[in-house]
Amino acid sequence: MGPTNFALVKLFKADMKLREAQGRLDATTKNVRIQDRRVRDLNDRIAALQKQLKEQQSHAGTLDVDLKSRDAHIEKLRTQQQQAKNNKEYQAFLVEISTGKVDRNKVEEEAIKVLEGIEKLQAELKDLQAQQQAEAAKAAAMKEQITGQTAALQAEIDAIKPEREQASQAVPRQAREAFDRLADRFDGEAMSPLIKPDKRREEYSCSACMMDLVRDVYNKLHTRDELVFCPSCRRILYIPEDLPVEAAVHKVKERKERPQKAPPAGTNRQTSAVDVLRSVTPERDDDNEPTDVASAQAREAAAAATASDNQSAASEPSESSAQPQEQASGAEEPAPPQQ
Ligand SMILES: [Zn+2]
Repeated sequence: MGPTNFALVKLFKADMKLREAQGRLDATTKNVRIQDRRVRDLNDRIAALQKQLKEQQSHAGTLDVDLKSRDAHIEKLRTQQQQAKNNKEYQAFLVEISTGKVDRNKVEEEAIKVLEGIEKLQAELKDLQAQQQAEAAKAAAMKEQITGQTAALQAEIDAIKPEREQASQAVPRQAREAFDRLADRFDGEAMSPLIKPDKRREEYSCSACMMDLVRDVYNKLHTRDELVFCPSCRRILYIPEDLPVEAAVHKVKERKERPQKAPPAGTNRQTSAVDVLRSVTPERDDDNEPTDVASAQAREAAAAATASDNQSAASEPSESSAQPQEQASGAEEPAPPQQ
């Protein structure tokens, strides 16, 4: 791997470290955040209730003024009734007074209902306020309890951030953008180390999605400084420390021991993407690889044919081809998987 690949792996590790610490902080503060939300909900309900209460109290006040004025009017009519000059006038006042009383009683009934409603709201409010106090105290106690933990985690995060930033700056811009995009998409898991499932066979898989990869992938990553994407999950592939070249690549002698269905023409040691492309079909026959590889390679071929596709992830192949290396991106960088 070249400097870009090494810088990417370093960025990948720093990024994962930061995400992991952030994840621990989030987990630690999760219950407090839930508790805070409970307190906020209660505050909202209290505010709504207070508003309602205020409206009802204002309504009750209006009714009270109305009632007092009606009482005063009735009292005035009574006085006038006492001073009536004749029976007819007296009876007229009597009718007016009793009509006034009926109306006044209707207002009083409404006022009583409103006051009852106010009492109910006040009781509800008192209950909510007690709940709010209890929950707020609980939230404060929970925060107090994790203060030390969160401070330590925050310090850890603050310490990792410059490390990640530095690692990021060391990666060339296009590679960095590809990394950031993939890290967003895969929750940080932007890169995937190769694995070699069978020690005796020179075959590699993507450890993230377990897709079998073309054999040339190791050599390509080992000898060049370019971005190689998993054709299936599209993560950036890299060689892990526990897969050094002596453990990874077979000697020619060993390769001859493997059962082969077809003559070994053009099967191994491809040194350019053109060779890779040429060898796609022979290699599949030669290695008698599982059908999922065959379909992956068919997808690769199809992707190469439709490489003009301008979807967002399709920009990755062009980034690779923009690397200083001469060869095309085709074999290992198909169009993005169908979503
Ligand atoms: Zn993969």
